[in-house]
Amino acid sequence: MTAAPPTAAAPDHREIREAVRALCQRFPGEYWRKLDRERTYPAEFVRALTEAGYLGCLIPEEFGGSGLGIGAAAAILEEVHASGGNGAACHAQMYTMGTILRHGSAAQKARFLPEIAAGRLRLQAFGVTEPTAGTDTTAIRTAAVKQGDRYVVNGQKVWTSRAEHSDLMLLLARTAPRDPARKTDGLSVFLVDMRAALGKGLTIRPIRTMLNHATTEVFFDNLEVPADCLIGREGAGFRYILDGMNAERILIAAECVGDARWFVAKARDYAKERVVFGRPIGQNQGIQFPIARAYAQSQAAALMVGRAAALYEAGAPCGPEANMAKMLASEASWFAADTCLQTHGGFGFAEDYDVERKFRETRLYQVAPVSTNLILAYIAEHVLGLPRSY
Ligand SMILES: Cc1cc2nc3c(=O)[nH]c(=O)nc-3n(C[C@H](O)[C@H](O)[C@H](O)COP(=O)(O)OP(=O)(O)OC[C@H]3O[C@@H](n4cnc5c(N)ncnc54)[C@H](O)[C@@H]3O)c2cc1C
Repeated sequence: MTAAPPTAAAPDHREIREAVRALCQRFPGEYWRKLDRERTYPAEFVRALTEAGYLGCLIPEEFGGSGLGIGAAAAILEEVHASGGNGAACHAQMYTMGTILRHGSAAQKARFLPEIAAGRLRLQAFGVTEPTAGTDTTAIRTAAVKQGDRYVVNGQKVWTSRAEHSDLMLLLARTAPRDPARKTDGLSVFLVDMRAALGKGLTIRPIRTMLNHATTEVFFDNLEVPADCLIGREGAGFRYILDGMNAERILIAAECVGDARWFVAKARDYAKERVVFGRPIGQNQGIQFPIARAYAQSQAAALMVGRAAALYEAGAPCGPEANMAKMLASEASWFAADTCLQTHGGFGFAEDYDVERKFRETRLYQVAPVSTNLILAYIAEHVLGLPRSY
C-alpha cells in the first residue's frame, strides 16, 4: 500500500521514499526480531543509513550534509517504520545537531558538523530527563559549576537513549540556582565528549525496557568538561532545548505515521487471507471497519505532519502543528496497532508475525519524547488561551 503524499502542496519525496524502501528490504522482520529478542543495537542498519547519507540529511551542504528540509527527513523515517523497521536507534543523529547549528559558535559548527554529517562522530544522546524532575524540566538538578577553564558536572540523567552508541551527548545542566520567579533561567547546554569522559566521572547503565531501545541511566560524578563545551550563552539552555523540540516532534510523528501504515497493511493482508467460518475474516464489517478507521486516522495524521513540516521549512512558527502532529500520529499508530493485533487473533501474539514487536514499539510515542497530557496542556494553554495548570 502506498500512502498518499502528506499534503497536496508538499513535495512527496518519492525518490527518497523509494530508495529508503529498497534499503529497508535488506533488513527484514527476522533482522529486527533477533535484535529485539537479544536487546541489541541495530548497528548494521544504522551503518547502512549513515553510509547512504540519510542521517546527515538536515545538515547544510556547507557543513557536508545534504541540506534537505524536515519533510525529507520525515519521509525517510516514515518509510523506515512503514517497512517494519525502527528508526529510534538513530533518528536523534538527524536532529540533535540542530542545537549546534542554531546556537553553536562558528568554531563549534566547523569542528563538529562535518564530522557528524560524515557519520564519523555520533551525536545521538540527549540528556534532559532526570528521575526526580520528570516532565518538569526546570526542576532538573544536574549541575555544572565553572572552575577556571572547565565545568565540573554532578548529577544524574535517566532515559538517555543511545548513550552507549554515541560519541557526544547534548547535556542540559543547571549553571545557576533555580529562581522560582524565572524558572526557565539558569540552565545551560553542553556538548560532552563521552569518549573522553567514560570512566572519568561518567557512568552509563543500560535500562532494560519493554522494547529494544538502547536507553540508559547516566551518572556524573565530578566530571570535568572543557569550558568550550558550552553551547551558546550560559543560562539560556532551556530555550535552546525548546527550539529543537518541533523538529523532534515532527520526525517522531512521521515514524508513527509509518508504523500506522505498516499495521494497516498487515491487518488488511491478513484479513483478506485468513478464512474462518468459510469466508475471509475481512468480509466481516466488524473486522473491516476498525482497519478502515485506522487508515483514515493515519491519513489525517499524515496531513498534520505535512502541515507542520511545511511551516517548519518556511521558518514559520509551528509549535501547535508539531505538537498536534505528534499527538494525532501517536494515537493513530496505537489504534492501528491495536486493530492489527485484534485482526490477527492469537497469531498477533506470535513473535514471527512482528505485530507484537511493533505494537510494543509504537506504544512508546504517547509517552516519549513528550507525553500526550503535556501536549494537551500546551494546546489548552498556548493555542486556546486557557489558564496555566502548572
Ligand atoms: C524508552 C524511552 C526513551 C527515552 N529517551 C529519552 C532521551 O533520549 N532523552 C531524554 O532526556 N529523555 C528521554 N525519555 C524520557 C521521556 O521524555 C519522558 O519519559 C517523558 O517526557 C515523560 O516524563 P516522565 O517519564 O518523567 O513522566 P512524569 O513527568 O513523571 O509523568 C508521568 C505521567 O504523568 C503525566 N503528568 C505529569 N504532569 C502532569 C500534569 N501537570 N498534567 C497532566 N498530566 C501530567 C504525564 O503526562 C505522564 O503520563 C525517554 C523515555 C523512554 C520511556
